Amino acid sequence: MTQSFDLSGKVALVTGANTGIGQGIALALAGAGADIAAAGRSPADETVGKVRALGRRGENFAADLSSVAAVQPLVDAVLAAFGRIDIVVNNAGIIRRADAVDFTEEDWDAVMDTNLKTLFFLCQAAGKHMIARGSGKIINIASMLTFQGGIRVPSYTASKSGVGGLTKLLANEWAAKGINVNAIAPGYIATNNTAALQADETRNRQIMERIPAGRWGDPADIGGAAVFLASRASDYVQGHILAVDGGWLAR
Ligand code: NAP
Repeated sequence: MTQSFDLSGKVALVTGANTGIGQGIALALAGAGADIAAAGRSPADETVGKVRALGRRGENFAADLSSVAAVQPLVDAVLAAFGRIDIVVNNAGIIRRADAVDFTEEDWDAVMDTNLKTLFFLCQAAGKHMIARGSGKIINIASMLTFQGGIRVPSYTASKSGVGGLTKLLANEWAAKGINVNAIAPGYIATNNTAALQADETRNRQIMERIPAGRWGDPADIGGAAVFLASRASDYVQGHILAVDGGWLAR
C-alpha cells in the first residue's frame, strides 16, 4: 500500500515554499520522494537545503506571484530545469485585516490577485502541460474561510471561497484528462500568516477553545494530506476540499 503514496521521480512545483505551510508541504512531498521546485518572492534556501538533505533535488525559482505576468516564465523555467511538472501546490497567499466598512480597494485587489487570480492562471499554465501528458496533480490551498465567513478579512474570504469553486470547476473540466484538482483547507496553523492572531491574547484563547484538538496546527500537520493528494492513492479523488483543521469545522 505504501507504494501508492510513493512520489519517487515526480516533480512538484510548490509556491511560497520558503516558510509556513508551503515549507511543510514541500518537505513532506520530498520525504515521499518528490523533487521540489520552490517558487516564491523570497528564496527558499532553508527548504531547498532540507530537500537536498533528504536526498531529493531542490531548486529555487524567483517569482512574484502578485502578478499573473510571473506565471508563464515560472512554468517555463521549471520545465527547462526539471523537464516536467507532475504536481503543483498553489500555496502562496496573503491576508489583509480591516473592518468591512474601512476595507480599501488596495487591500481587496492585493489579496484577490495573489490568492485567486494568479492561482487560476498557474493552474491553467501547468494544466496545459499536464493535459498534454495525460496526468498531473494540482493542490490548491483553501481555508476555513472557503466554508465560513470569518471577520475583518473580506478579500481573504472572497479569495478562499473562490479557490473552492475554482478547484471544483477545474476538476470537472480536467478529471477525464487524467488530472486531479483538489484543495486542502488548513485550520488554524501557526505561521507568519496567523502571527497577529496568535499574539492577540483574547483571539488566541477564543480560537484554542474552539479547536477540538486543543492546539494550533503545525505546518507539518498539512504534509500527510498533501502527499495523499499528490499521489496515486488519490487518483479517484476529484474537486475535494480536504479540511486539516483539528476538528474546527466539526464543532
Ligand atoms: P506565510 O507563512 O505568510 O506564507 C505565505 C507564503 O506565500 C510565503 O512563502 C510568502 O512569501 C508567499 N507569498 C505571499 N505573497 C507572495 C507573492 N506575491 N509572490 C510569491 N510568494 C508570495 O503563511 P502560511 O500560513 O504558511 O500560508 C500559506 C497558505 O496557507 C496561504 O495561501 C494561506 O492563505 C493558507 N492558509 C493558512 C492558514 C493558517 O492558519 N496559517 C489557514 C488556512 C489557509 P514571503 O515569505 O516572501 O512573504
